[in-house]
Amino acid sequence: MHIDLIPQWHILTYNIFMSETKRTKIAELLKTPEKTGIGNLVTIKGWVRTKRGNKNVAFIALNDGSTIHSIQVVVDLADFDEEMLKLVNTGACISVSGLLVESPGAGQSVEMHAKQIEVYGSADPDLYPLQKKGHTLEFLREIAHLRPRTNTFGAVLRIRHNMAYAIHKYFNDKGFYYIHTPIITGSDAEGAGAMFRVTTLDMNNLPKNESGEIDYSQDFFGKSTNLTVSGQLNGELAALALSEIYTFGPTFRAENSNTPRHLAEFWMIEPEMAFYDLNDNMDLAEDFLKYLIRYALEHCKDDLEFLEKMYDKELIERLNFVTNNDFERLPYTKAVEILVASGQKFEFPVEWGVDLQSEHERYLVEKVFNKPVILIDYPRDIKAFYMKQNDDGKTVRAMDVLFPRIGEIIGGSQREENYEKLMDRIHELNIPEKDMWWYLETRKFGTAPHAGFGLGFERLMLFVTGMANIRDVIPFPRTPQTADF
Ligand code: ATP
Ligand code: MN
Repeated sequence: MHIDLIPQWHILTYNIFMSETKRTKIAELLKTPEKTGIGNLVTIKGWVRTKRGNKNVAFIALNDGSTIHSIQVVVDLADFDEEMLKLVNTGACISVSGLLVESPGAGQSVEMHAKQIEVYGSADPDLYPLQKKGHTLEFLREIAHLRPRTNTFGAVLRIRHNMAYAIHKYFNDKGFYYIHTPIITGSDAEGAGAMFRVTTLDMNNLPKNESGEIDYSQDFFGKSTNLTVSGQLNGELAALALSEIYTFGPTFRAENSNTPRHLAEFWMIEPEMAFYDLNDNMDLAEDFLKYLIRYALEHCKDDLEFLEKMYDKELIERLNFVTNNDFERLPYTKAVEILVASGQKFEFPVEWGVDLQSEHERYLVEKVFNKPVILIDYPRDIKAFYMKQNDDGKTVRAMDVLFPRIGEIIGGSQREENYEKLMDRIHELNIPEKDMWWYLETRKFGTAPHAGFGLGFERLMLFVTGMANIRDVIPFPRTPQTADF
C-alpha cells in the first residue's frame, strides 16, 4: 500500500509539506484517525522505543507519552541518509513527517510512512540505560530521571494526572473550595509524625541561649519551624468560614519507616466540612473514593489494562468490586474482638487500646469482610487531640478507611468543637497552648460541629494502579537515605 501512496504524495506541492509541520499528538492520531486524516501528511515527535527491520525498510515504534500506545513509523531506507538513520535508535528523540495510512499489520490501526525525519537527540545504544526491555522496578528507581520513558511509568503518571484532576473536579462540582495551606509551619502540634526542620541558621555555628539551647529567636521566622505534616488545622480555619473546603498539597514526615506504603514526602487531600458529623464524613469518604476509582476506570482504560496485564491480573476486577459494594462500617472495639477471636497469629499482638497495624487492617478487609472497611470510635489515647470525644470517656469519633492490599487509605474524624473539652485534652497532652491560640479561637468564636479526613494521594495511587510499592506511584520518591533526582 505504501508504494502506491508515496508517488501520490510527491504530487502534493513542497509548500503543503512544509506547512504541515505542526505536531500532532500520537494519542490524537490513534483516537481519531478519520479526523486527523488517513492519507494526510502529519508530523509527530517523540522517543524511539524500538527499531527493527531489514535491508530495505525500518520499523520504528515511536512514543510521545500522550498514550501508552506507540505508533509504527515505516521508513524506506532508500529515501533517507544512512548516517542520519544510524542515530535513530532506542531512546533517540525524533520528529517525523509523513503520511498516515491504514496499517496492514495486526495490532495497530494506522501507521506512518516517513517522508522526513529530524533527529533532535540521539541515544548511544551502548550507554542508554533503557536500551533493553524488562528492567526490574528496583532498577528503574535508580534511574528515576529516565523511568518516565517506560510504558509502566508513562501509565502511572498519566493515571496520577487523571486522579489529581478528578479530585479537583469532584470537589468543585460539590461546591467545595480549594484552600492552599502553608508548607512551612510554626506549630509542632499537628501530631501526625516526626517533622523536618526548616532553618536558615548556620549549622556549624548555632546561636545558643543562656541555658545552652539553640536560640531559634535568631532563626528566619524568629521561632523554630518545620515542614507541615498535614494541612488540616489550617483547613479547619477555612471550613469554619466557607463551610466546605479541601486542601491538596505536599506533606512531609520524617519517620524512619521503610515500608512499601510510606514516603517522607507525599501528597494529601484533606476535605474539611462545617456541619458534618462522623456519618456525613464517612458518606463523603466512601462516595469520593468510589468516584475516583470510577473515574479511573472510565478515563484511564488503556493504562489500567496495561498495568493489569503486566503486574496485577485482578486489578480491574478489584476496582470494579470496590465501586459496586458498600463499605463495611464498624467500631474499633468490635474489630478488636473479631481479630482476637480469629486465632490468627499476627506479628503485632492485638488487644483493646493498641494502634492497629496494616496486617490487622488487611486481615479485616481481605479475610473477614472481603471489602473496604471503615473503623470508627478509636481509643482516644492513640488518636490526635482534636478528635471529638465520645461520651464513654474512652473513645473518639475517629474513622479510618481500610482498603484491600493497602490497609489505611484515609484517616479522619469529627473534630472536637467544644472549647473546654478541647482545652482539657491539650492540657492532658502537654501541647503548648501558645502555639495553638489561633486554632483555639475558632472554638471560642462561632464554633460549629465539623469533620474532615485525609486521603494519602499515593495510597490511592497504589490501589488504583495495582503497583506494590509506593515508590513507584510518585515521580521522584523521597524515602530515608534517598532524595536524588
Ligand atoms: P499510617 O498509620 O499508615 O502510617 P497515619 O495514621 O500516620 O498512617 P494519617 O496521619 O492519618 O496517617 O494521615 C492521613 C493519610 O495519609 C493516611 O490515611 C495515609 O493514606 C496517608 N499517609 C500517612 N502517612 C503517609 C506516608 N508516610 N506516606 C504516604 N502516605 C501516608
Ligand atoms: Mn491515620
